[in-house]
Amino acid sequence: MTTAFYTDERCFWHGGGNYAFTLPVGGLVQPGGGLPESPETKRRLKNLLEVTGLIHALSTRSAPEATWQEMARVHPESYLSAFRAASEAGGGELGLRTPFGPGGFEIAALSAGLSTAALRAVLKGEARNAYALSRPPGHHALPDWPNGFCLLNNIAIAIRAAQAEGLARRIAVIDWDVHHGNGTEAIFYEDPEVLTISLHQERNYPLDTGEAADRGRGAGEGFNINLPLPPGCGEAAWLLAFDRVVLPALSRFRPEAIVVACGYDASGVDPLGRMLLRAESFRLMTERVRRAAEELCRGRLVLCHEGGYSEVHVPFCGHAVIAELAQSGIHAPDPLDATLQKRQPGPAFDAFAGAWIEDLARLHGF
Ligand code: ZN
Repeated sequence: MTTAFYTDERCFWHGGGNYAFTLPVGGLVQPGGGLPESPETKRRLKNLLEVTGLIHALSTRSAPEATWQEMARVHPESYLSAFRAASEAGGGELGLRTPFGPGGFEIAALSAGLSTAALRAVLKGEARNAYALSRPPGHHALPDWPNGFCLLNNIAIAIRAAQAEGLARRIAVIDWDVHHGNGTEAIFYEDPEVLTISLHQERNYPLDTGEAADRGRGAGEGFNINLPLPPGCGEAAWLLAFDRVVLPALSRFRPEAIVVACGYDASGVDPLGRMLLRAESFRLMTERVRRAAEELCRGRLVLCHEGGYSEVHVPFCGHAVIAELAQSGIHAPDPLDATLQKRQPGPAFDAFAGAWIEDLARLHGF
């Protein structure tokens, strides 16, 4: 059984808007640079897999675009129609910081289709686990409001397809992107069959969501777990959050599959986060989730690429994650490893972060 790797060059052609980093160009903001969500981080990850040869240990596949029916299980048809019309008219922007060019609708549908195919393959036993390298990302996308570079909620579309096809009911989502998975949270907020867990830097993006007290509503109460972490957390704090909350929550929920919203913006050099992870930290989180999947759901694990904006570091973090998924001995040593090891917080901060995480664990009943 292999690790499936879903990607498509067309995803790297998504783009649009006139931005200088996250700022709209105009007034005193000099044009140039573009949004941080650019093709380069992801294309360079694929290139690194080719250069080391790890890609040959994977089963590389593309997939069809998600169908209208699949997208409409998550997004209202009014939104999909407006998105498609704007895309056909040459591109535009329907929400906050989510521009798209001509054909952007089809590329977003392809990005969702890659995640959908990845989850389907794992649930059907056609792959041991899977990684979807696609863009635009998905975890911020609300049903009718694109934001944070996300146009369609790829993971939600994949989960609803798997449920509609009778492949699984109970699915856990772990979102380790440094930003809150507000879209995924909103879509499953009242749903007890989908456990959503988001680890993120508190009050980063969005500024006003991701509170620990937001635990789900109605039948879904207790099935949304937010772990807002203070800026400056290093590997020890992130792994402690896994050991004290994420892994116990998975054991309590007993999912039939685990999906990871796999962002790399908790990297110690990411321009949109203030955390201190290195490639090995991402591998260690992947190892924990892989072992949990083996124990709880026959190894069924799908990682969907989300954020991560350091063009040089994301490829090494992604390579470490994918090598761990595939249990491959092919490594791409993290060139920032020594620097980031030295930058890990000292014992005083670790004690502070440890007490913070214990408070979160208590709130969630662990
Ligand atoms: Zn992010």
